[in-house]
Amino acid sequence: MNDTILQGLLKQNTIRFAAVTGRELVAEAQRIHGLSRTATAALGRELLMVAMMASQLKNDTDSVSAILSGGGPGGNLVCVGRKGPYVKGCAGDPGYELPPKENGKLDVGGYVGKSGKLTVVRDLSLKEPYVGMCHLVSGEVAEDFAEYFTASEQQPSLVYLGVRLEPLSGQVLGAGGLLVQPLPDCPAENVDYVMAQAEAIPHLTRRLSEGEGLKDIVLDLFPEGDVSFTEELSPTYRCDCSRERMERALMSLGRDELHTIIEEDGQAELSCHFCNSRYAFTKAELESLLQEGAGA
Ligand SMILES: [Zn+2]
Repeated sequence: MNDTILQGLLKQNTIRFAAVTGRELVAEAQRIHGLSRTATAALGRELLMVAMMASQLKNDTDSVSAILSGGGPGGNLVCVGRKGPYVKGCAGDPGYELPPKENGKLDVGGYVGKSGKLTVVRDLSLKEPYVGMCHLVSGEVAEDFAEYFTASEQQPSLVYLGVRLEPLSGQVLGAGGLLVQPLPDCPAENVDYVMAQAEAIPHLTRRLSEGEGLKDIVLDLFPEGDVSFTEELSPTYRCDCSRERMERALMSLGRDELHTIIEEDGQAELSCHFCNSRYAFTKAELESLLQEGAGA
């Protein structure tokens, strides 16, 4: 099944939800970065979440970024989503592996750490981006985003994120997520109804990996939910880096630094953190950047 995000409403339009199946985009992140199993689960969960958030963006210039800085051995986990939705992400130490937890599950919380914070930047093409933050709860990602929505956006939310791997090969078998958010003035009994279904939700990823369709699973999770689907999108792992962007990054180093690179290295090669694309600059190209900088 291709990667899909479904948006919709529950309970007479008093609750909105987004559901995602994203096996291919998580596998793409794993391939690009050479992610360990635990890193695949950690970054994969964050990518699924950011894909659901990015599915609400309206303009091509809008973006949503999430930075998990938990102080764990995985380093900072950064994901960015744009309209499409297109997502990209990177981890500080993508290859780092930890032993599984006692219950056999991947130790995502150990990889991310839980002593730091989650920062979310929503750039909606207005004057200033909206920046929100919360302290991490467990580093298990879904709980941390739930805390973020409640604490920073005053939007209590049910968040589920799961990545399932083949135990031996580490191949991504399934990746799924669900975000459920009561709208203002949602009756308490409707929230109670959703919470009563919460126990079944963690089966979402297993069911996806066994070939069930996302729409069928959502309908099955909320049998009396009065479910209506409003939009269907195809999330994709795609980077928006470019030579122009790398030129700007070089210019932002400042004249002195650029001059030193020209004198000492005689060239420069930059690689993108999100897709590993490499951009080489010759001495002449660097000198012309220096000229342009002088004119600016
Ligand atoms: Zn890139």
